[in-house]
Amino acid sequence: MPEIKNLMDKLVSLCKRRGFIFQSSEIYGGLNSCYDYGPLGVELKRNLKDFWWKAMVQTRDDIEGLDASILMHPRVWEASGHVANFTDPMIDCKICKARFRADEIKPEKAGQCPRCGNKDSLTEARNFNLMFKTFMGPVEDAANVVYMRPETAQGIYVNVYNVMQAARQKIPFGIAQIGKAFRNEITPGNFTFRTREFEQMEMQFFVKPGTDMQWFEYWKEQRIQWYDELGIRKSKLHFHEHTPEERAFYAAAAFDIEYEFPFGWKELEGIHNRTNYDLSKHQEFSGKDLSYFDDQTREKFIPYIVETSAGCDRTLLTTLIDAYDEDVVEGEARTVLHLSPRIAPIKAGIFPLVKKGGMPEAAEKIYHELKKHFHVFYDDGGAIGRRYRRMDEAGTPFGITIDGETIENQTVTVRDRDTLAQERVASDKLLVYMQEKMAAYKRKE
Ligand code: ATP
Repeated sequence: MPEIKNLMDKLVSLCKRRGFIFQSSEIYGGLNSCYDYGPLGVELKRNLKDFWWKAMVQTRDDIEGLDASILMHPRVWEASGHVANFTDPMIDCKICKARFRADEIKPEKAGQCPRCGNKDSLTEARNFNLMFKTFMGPVEDAANVVYMRPETAQGIYVNVYNVMQAARQKIPFGIAQIGKAFRNEITPGNFTFRTREFEQMEMQFFVKPGTDMQWFEYWKEQRIQWYDELGIRKSKLHFHEHTPEERAFYAAAAFDIEYEFPFGWKELEGIHNRTNYDLSKHQEFSGKDLSYFDDQTREKFIPYIVETSAGCDRTLLTTLIDAYDEDVVEGEARTVLHLSPRIAPIKAGIFPLVKKGGMPEAAEKIYHELKKHFHVFYDDGGAIGRRYRRMDEAGTPFGITIDGETIENQTVTVRDRDTLAQERVASDKLLVYMQEKMAAYKRKE
């Protein structure tokens, strides 16, 4: 696929026009870095989360699901180090009042504001905590401060033995969770790439010390494979190993899965060997024994944790960027999203060729039948080419046309969004046809 000029601008406008993603509170001028998912966006997001959940929880015997609350005991964030260390060094411009992350100021331009260009207008770097604070109960004082969780992982750590006992699991096993996280990012941007409210899809795998690196390698492979199955082009993905400066001091190993965005290679997911740091800290701060007793080897230890931490909104944005394409079909320009049928918001468009000759009735019958299984869309308005193009832009993999032949021999035409090939399929075989095509789908480079 050739590179597309101004891809991000085109995508933002497509997202609004077709109802994938809107700016939050738009009629009030918008709230910076907050976004709302429209009808197509919410379907895509649900499908994406289901795809993750299926791979990480439902098809495995060694991972359990969890949905922990966003607000947690404030001591959790002291134990985790977030109160003291979850900070970004930030620099302000004294003239134009713009705020930057210290690493955004190029060393050769030290002291000069990247926005207004004034020299010697920047403050020294100061640490800024990224956690959102609020108050629990009616009194707004320091004793009632609670934090909006900046990651979902801590909800998993503090529940490890609840889950283990309830689900009768033994180490090695994992806990997975999808949920909102909040970070008061200094410089959000690139549409939904970095926002202040976002969803994470995290899995924490608890293992015996000494087996941690084996599990780390296993999860690295599993996770990169997942993006392939999600339909992201392989050539756009790679691993980035954390340098010693990037890596948390307690981590034994850390790799990111990165995607080549139009604005550079950036992190999609972090895979970390967190050692026994998290449970040791919670043991220290809670005073509860968080060690595990292995009844086969009679050993007692604090489990090591291998974490896979992905961003849901960031992955959704990646699926859109990776899918976006422009081409010419029958002499007309078209915009198409090559989304995997597994996550596409609408699986098929159903089109009676004309509004007579029994075609609408036959089309409606097919529509109601398929609707029991998939999200499908009925469209009888306008020329067939235009109807196809509207569905191409929404990433709909199949176009089903009901024509004169349908009435004679109960077959329909199925058009493939990517190859544009048209096949005649018996109406009563449509469901199986679509299921087989979806299962066999492979993204082209
Ligand atoms: P970054 O370096 O991009 O700030 P991070 O290393 O702080 O990310 P983690 O704490 O490892 O990120 O979070 C795990 C995942 O959560 C990231 O890989 C990303 O997909 C997602 N994520 C983190 N911060 C944001 C954000 N502000 N907006 C959207 N997604 C985010």
